[in-house]
Formats: sequence, structure tokens, C-alpha cells
Amino acid sequence: MSTAHDPVSYEESSSQEYSQRAADRFELVRHARRYLVASGPCPRCNAHLDIPVVTEAVRRLGNGALASGATEVPMYCVCEGEHQGRPDGEEGCGAYWLLVLPADVT
Ligand SMILES: [Zn+2]
Ligand SMILES: [Zn+2]
Repeated sequence: MSTAHDPVSYEESSSQEYSQRAADRFELVRHARRYLVASGPCPRCNAHLDIPVVTEAVRRLGNGALASGATEVPMYCVCEGEHQGRPDGEEGCGAYWLLVLPADVT
């Protein structure tokens, strides 16, 4: 899969499309009982991201739990690529989105 980085200008943004793209392209890899890593391309700038998700904490908080038992986890781009206009101390391209974790992984 090509993961060429797209040097778009920094912009804090989110859309249903980002969440959809992340759902299609992110892989969930369990690293330990308490967390897994969501791995895939940023839906905006296409940088490869590995984002740890603490599943037990997510479940305990009950944040964004859906009727189906799935959980929505907010994530944002943390790439180290160049994005024009990025404020000092920020990282990524500004994209954020919700990744849905199926009930059986949390
Ligand atoms: Zn980027
Ligand atoms: Zn990005």
C-alpha cells in the first residue's frame, strides 16, 4: 500500500469521511491485554500512524460507547511530516477523527 506523505497545509479539521477512511484502512494490533495499536495512514495527509489505544481505560470510561457495544475512540494525526502553518508545539496535519472499535476488541 502506498503511503506517500501529502504536505497539505496544517488545518484542524474532521469529517465523516476521515472516520470512514480510517475505518477502512486502519488495522488494530493487540500488543498487550490493556492496549492495542491502531495502525494505518492518516486520512488527511496519508502519513503512516501507529496510535496506541488503551482498551481497558476506554471501556471503563464508557466514553462514546455505542448501543452495539462498539466504542468510538477519538484520534488525531501525529505525523512528523512537514505541514505549513503548523503552530509551534503541535504535531500532525491537524486532522482528527473517531475510530470505531468493535465490542470484541475492547
Ligand atoms: Zn502529515
Ligand atoms: Zn495527517
